[in-house]
Amino acid sequence: MSWKLEDFDIPPEEGKDRFHDFALPEPLMRAIHQLGYEYCTPIQSAVLPLSLADYDVTGQAQTGTGKTAAFLISVFTHFWENPLQEPLPKGSPRALVLAPTRELALQIEGDAKALTKYMDEVTHCVVGGMDFQKQREKLQRSPVDLLVATPGRLIDFINRRDINLRNVEILVIDEADRMLDMGFIPDVRRIVYQTPHKRDRQTLFFSATFNDDVMRLADSWTLQGEHVVIQPESVATDNVEQKFWLVSTEAKAKLLVSFIEQHKPERMLIFSNRRDQTHRLQKYLSKKGVDCEALAGDVPQRKRLSTLNRFKDGEVHYIVATDVAGRGIHVDGISHVVNYDLPEDPEDYVHRIGRTGRAGADGISISFVSEDDAFNLPALEEYLGAPVSCVQPEL
Ligand code: AMP
Repeated sequence: MSWKLEDFDIPPEEGKDRFHDFALPEPLMRAIHQLGYEYCTPIQSAVLPLSLADYDVTGQAQTGTGKTAAFLISVFTHFWENPLQEPLPKGSPRALVLAPTRELALQIEGDAKALTKYMDEVTHCVVGGMDFQKQREKLQRSPVDLLVATPGRLIDFINRRDINLRNVEILVIDEADRMLDMGFIPDVRRIVYQTPHKRDRQTLFFSATFNDDVMRLADSWTLQGEHVVIQPESVATDNVEQKFWLVSTEAKAKLLVSFIEQHKPERMLIFSNRRDQTHRLQKYLSKKGVDCEALAGDVPQRKRLSTLNRFKDGEVHYIVATDVAGRGIHVDGISHVVNYDLPEDPEDYVHRIGRTGRAGADGISISFVSEDDAFNLPALEEYLGAPVSCVQPEL
């Protein structure tokens, strides 16, 4: 059955942009329709008019805001409007997306494939911790339009001359603040220098937070004067109801089990500050009959991916994660986030609770506050700009 633009019937609405308002390629509109998007999210409304007009953009956006689709739609529209006269050599992408973690890179690759379902554009992903040879074979099989990569693995491929970045027209740097935290900036800098000069490429630069270091990177990699910072609507996600429960350290595990038994949350992420504790808690919950899995840096990549997929498919309802592993979790329909411990860094708090309340849905975050966690409260209150009120657990 053929598809017509009229099939994607979205009435104009005050204060919202429709994808129709941006004259996007029809096959891309078809994919957007199929993904069930109706109106642009605020970041898409802010970014697309600039990025589609070839300006560099500096976007301040957390995950869950729709920033991935914002840059991907722009990239694929650019490809469509500027068809190649002749194919590029293999391993020479027209656009490059750099992401700090495998999980995020794979997520972006998945989104890109969904958006190009009705286009010919080819997306490949090169990430560490997964089969090098397989990634290499894919690169050698066909030219690549969009390459999604984590920095370390990309450098390996560049060094082996399997990839060259001379023909990059659009460079996207995602979660720049994370790259900085994870020590990837020297690698990223080497990669950026392999692409054409910033005057000769478009650069889209995203970060959840902008401190001086991140600003400096944005300034050196994007064209000055052309970039725009899109402030998030508020520091913490508006759609998330944030609760803070007073509980002693020893009573936390029991409280969590009681909560799960009573409320049977549909899909819940539990964050703990330490790896060993993540595993301990997962074992404890399993022993108490709560079916859950652990996601931490020491879990093999293959297992992490299969856990994530089962979480997405609803076969696993509960995951205990560390901050680093939890960053890669971009799953819709997470009803609850539990902070088993309060994170030391308030930015992590915002990242954690941003896993729920995504794309307009409502979510609940519950933070356990014990005598140990109380130390982290003042910094969090300052970051959120409001006092936090801790109450007795509502069971
Ligand atoms: P991101 O911030 O890129 O991780 O996106 C968060 C989620 O929002 C993803 O699951 C997207 O599929 C979804 N999404 C992106 N754009 C839209 C939109 N315009 N309408 C509804 N959902 C969207």
